[in-house]
Amino acid sequence: MPMHGDLERIYADVLARNPGEREFHQAVREVLESIGPAVDKHPEYADAKIVERICEPERQIIFRVPWEDDRGAIHINRGFRVEFNSALGPYKGGLRFHPSVLLGTVKFLGFEQVFKNALTGLPIGGGKGGSDFDPKGRSDREVMRFCQSFMTELYRHIGEYTDVPAGDIGVGSREIGYLFGQYKRITNRYESGVLTGKGLNYGGAQVRREATGYGCAFFVEEMLRARGESFDGKDVVVSGSGNVAIYSIEKVHQLGGRVVACSDSSGFVHDPKGIDLDLLKEVKEVRRERISAYAGERGGDATFVSGRSVWEVPCAVALPSATQNEIDEADALALVKGGCVAVGEGANMPTTPAGARVLQEAGVAFGPGKAANAGGVATSALEMQQNASRDSWSFAHSEERLRDIMTGIHARCFETAQEYGMPGNYVAGANIAAYARVAEAMLALGLV
Ligand code: GLU
Repeated sequence: MPMHGDLERIYADVLARNPGEREFHQAVREVLESIGPAVDKHPEYADAKIVERICEPERQIIFRVPWEDDRGAIHINRGFRVEFNSALGPYKGGLRFHPSVLLGTVKFLGFEQVFKNALTGLPIGGGKGGSDFDPKGRSDREVMRFCQSFMTELYRHIGEYTDVPAGDIGVGSREIGYLFGQYKRITNRYESGVLTGKGLNYGGAQVRREATGYGCAFFVEEMLRARGESFDGKDVVVSGSGNVAIYSIEKVHQLGGRVVACSDSSGFVHDPKGIDLDLLKEVKEVRRERISAYAGERGGDATFVSGRSVWEVPCAVALPSATQNEIDEADALALVKGGCVAVGEGANMPTTPAGARVLQEAGVAFGPGKAANAGGVATSALEMQQNASRDSWSFAHSEERLRDIMTGIHARCFETAQEYGMPGNYVAGANIAAYARVAEAMLALGLV
C-alpha cells in the first residue's frame, strides 16, 4: 500500500535508525500505511512531530542476566525492557522468554502494544520486555533462579505507577510468581500492581489467564455478527497450544464453533470431531509435553502431522495464536481456498504483510492482533484496578467486563474504518482509532 509522503520520509528514518530490526520495521510500516487519512485530518499533530515521537521508544533498557543451572554451570542471557509510550498511562506489556528474542523483537512488540493498549480505552501506556532465555527443558529451580536474576536488574525500572510487566510467550503464572517474589523481597513492598497475571491467591485477577483467548473469540464473534453470521456449526483452526490457543478453543466451543486443529512448533493435530480440551490442557499445561502426545492418547480420528502448516486444514475461521509471521502468502491462499471467512489474530503480528493482503483482498474479515488479542492486556488493566482498590471481582463479573471491552474495541475499529471510507477494514480502523487516542494525549501533554 502506498504511503502518504511525510510518512514515507518518517519510515525511511525508522529504517535508517534501527538497522536490521525487520519485525520492528514491519510493525511500523503496517501502521504508517494506514494512518495517512488521520494524519491529513490533524495538521496540528504533524507540527508536533507526533508520528516521529510515536516511532521512537521513550526508553530502552538492556541488561545482563547471569544465572547458574542445576549442574552449577553459569549462563549469561540478555534481558530487555522497552518503555515505548506512557502518554495514556504507565508502560504496560508482557515479558517474552524465547531464544529468538532480540532488541528488535521487543521493539516490534512494544510498538504494537502502544496501539493495542490505546484501543482498550483503558489508562495504560505501552511497553514490552523479555529475554533470549530458553525455558524449554529447564527445571523449575532453574527457571526460578533465572527469574530472580532477571528481576534483580529489572526491579529498578518498574513500579505500579511506572511500568507494569506481565506474561507473554514463555512467561506464565509460574514465572510471574517467581518474578513477583523477588520484586517483593528486594523492595520490601507488597506492591501487587507492579506485575499482572499473578496467581489468584496473591493479587491475581479472575479471567486474566483466559482473557486473551476468550477476548479473541469474542472479537471474532463480533466480526461474524457484523456479517450476519455466527460461530454456530463452523469449523475453526487454531495455531499454537499455549495459553492463548487453549482459552480461544474453550470459548469457541462455548460459542457453538468446533475447533478441529491446533499445533505446536513440532507440527499439528487434526481432530475432526473437535479438540478434547481436557486432554489438551493435561498434555500442554500440566505435563508440558509435545502435542503429538495428544493425538496418541485421543485415538479415534485424531492424527498428528509433523512439520507441516496447520493452515492446510480447511476451516471457516482461523485463529493464529502461536507467534509472529506464521501465516505467509501461501498459507493465506490455502485458507481462502478452504473457505475461511474470518481470521482473528490471537498472537502478535502472526500474519505477514503478503498474507494479510491475500486475506483482505479475498474479503475475509481480518481482525489484527492489536484489536483481536487486546483482551489479555485489558484484563491486566482490570487486575491493576482490583489491586489498587484491594478488591477482587467474581469470574462472572470479570468476564462480563472483558466481553464489553472486546465489543467496544470491535465497534471502535468498525466505526473508524467506516468513517474514513474503508468499511470492513479492521486494520485501518484499529490503527487510526489507536493513533488518534495516543496522539491527542501526547499533544495535550506538551513536548515530552
Ligand atoms: N503479552 C500480552 C500481550 O501481548 C499481555 C500483556 C499484558 O497483560 O500486559 O498483549
